[in-house]
Amino acid sequence: MTGPELTQRMVELGLSVEQLSAVLGKHPDEVRGWTTIGGPLPSGLARELAWVLALHERDQLMERSGLPLCTWMEAHAAQTEGDAAALERRMAQADAHVASCEVCQRREAYAAKLPPLPPMPLPLHVGLLVRIAEAVKRLPGWARPAATGALILGAMTLARTLFMIVLRPSAITPQLLLTVVGAIALGAYGGLVGGVAYTLARGPTRRLGRAGDYLTGLACAYAYLAAFGLPAAIFTHDEMFRSSFGWISMLVVGTLFGLLVGHQWFRSGGAVSGGA
Ligand SMILES: [Zn+2]
Repeated sequence: MTGPELTQRMVELGLSVEQLSAVLGKHPDEVRGWTTIGGPLPSGLARELAWVLALHERDQLMERSGLPLCTWMEAHAAQTEGDAAALERRMAQADAHVASCEVCQRREAYAAKLPPLPPMPLPLHVGLLVRIAEAVKRLPGWARPAATGALILGAMTLARTLFMIVLRPSAITPQLLLTVVGAIALGAYGGLVGGVAYTLARGPTRRLGRAGDYLTGLACAYAYLAAFGLPAAIFTHDEMFRSSFGWISMLVVGTLFGLLVGHQWFRSGGAVSGGA
């Protein structure tokens, strides 16, 4: 994208320099400077602009579709504060809402037919995921499950975020993208812990046959819970992690989850994500 092409796109979308700079969190002079560059803009900037402009266009198309807005989703998307855990919670709530909301389902079906959005401008982090995926293939066998666990959870978080974007493009602000990166890191951390637990537990438990599959699942689930529960107990004032009732509930959940994981993923030496 060149400067004149940027100007052209802004005119087409009826977007002023001030509006675009507000969306990007930049000073209008900086945006005006880009429009005077005759040659191609730096590639990172061009990607970010293509993304923001495409979201704006999609918002316009959705508005012109005449489809009614969902008041629940509007209010829901307007909440942007909170940490990665809060974002996770909001995404899960949105998931559950859409399943039972006819208005959202109609908007989703309409959005699916619109031109696809350009790749999301998380050049460092998405590029990183891809590079990690390639690097994982070259890792020695013992390190593969841990790295794959991190990848899977990171990718799952990203997929759920993309679902939010399709539904309500204007909810995507630079702050939200930062929160998303945080959520990916958190997911990757959990995956890494689960993967390490798998690596350590699988060798001894494999000899136990069917029971060993379930023990592996339990080891992963407990490690996962401890990975999040211990820091939460130390660094937050969450009641959940301060009472024995909270820990017992987590133990029960972890046991159920572990048995399920053992049954689904590890049965008869089943392949966990390309693991050992
Ligand atoms: Zn709805």
